[in-house]
This record gives sequence, C-alpha cells and structure tokens, in this order.
Amino acid sequence: MSRICSQCKTKYNDDAVYCNLCDIDLDDTNSFLKIDVENINNTLTKARSTTKRIHYAIATLNIIAVLFLYGISIYNEHTLRDREWLILLAGTCIAAIHLLAAYGLSLKKQWGRFLSIFIGIYLLIGFPIGTILGFIIIKNMFRHEWKHDSLTIQ
Ligand SMILES: [Zn+2]
Repeated sequence: MSRICSQCKTKYNDDAVYCNLCDIDLDDTNSFLKIDVENINNTLTKARSTTKRIHYAIATLNIIAVLFLYGISIYNEHTLRDREWLILLAGTCIAAIHLLAAYGLSLKKQWGRFLSIFIGIYLLIGFPIGTILGFIIIKNMFRHEWKHDSLTIQ
C-alpha cells in the first residue's frame, strides 16, 4: 500500500505522514488517496501480458501464412499476380500492426493501449475466434485500474 497525495499525486511510502510539496498532513484521511499502487501495477501488468500474447499469436499466424503462400508459389514456379501480392502485403501489415501494439504495451505507452483497443474492436468482426480474442483484449484494456496508470509508471 502506498500513499498518494491528493493534491500533487506524489507517491509516498505507507508510513509517510507529510507532503513537503503541498505542505499538508498526509495522516488526515482526506489528504491522501487510498490507492493500492502495487495491486494496480500487478493488474495492469497482467492485462498487458495477456494482450501481448494475443498480439504475438496473431502476428505469428500471419507471418507463417505469408511465408507458406510465398513458399508454395516459388515451389510451383508460379508468378504471383497483383491480387496475390496484395494478400501477402496485407498479411505482413497485419502482423506488423500487432507487433507494434505489443511493443507499445511493453513500453507502457498509452498509444500501445489505444492501438490494442482499435485492433480489439476490429477483431470482433472475425467470428468466432476473432470475436473472443477481441473481447479479451477490450476487457483487459478497459479495466478500471487503467485510470491510475500514470501512478504506476515510475
Ligand atoms: Zn502533495
């Protein structure tokens, strides 16, 4: 349990009694927010890692599919048509976007979360597996602990 000054949001140890910055007594129950920073941190770390796993899984599947299709075309000495290149390009882009979102989450950046939400909504269309994965991402990215995210970033 940590103490957060209600005025300046500075984080203090549990035994802190005074905020030097605001000149207020932290023992006054109204002067600090009762926020369990460690607990929020754990919850958000879990939410990030679950979402990252989904991103990695989808990116891996797309990369395998692209390499597989490209491999088949080489094996069959088949010259790819424009539309086929487009499919390979789309698969590569999807993989890249998922990896980018996972990277943003690793850096604990807000854009990583927003990109994941965007992807999650998009995944909902892909019934049934996409819908399930999209739902899991959205659920994790909208946990109420996210509103305290700035407190957990050291
Ligand atoms: Zn303060």
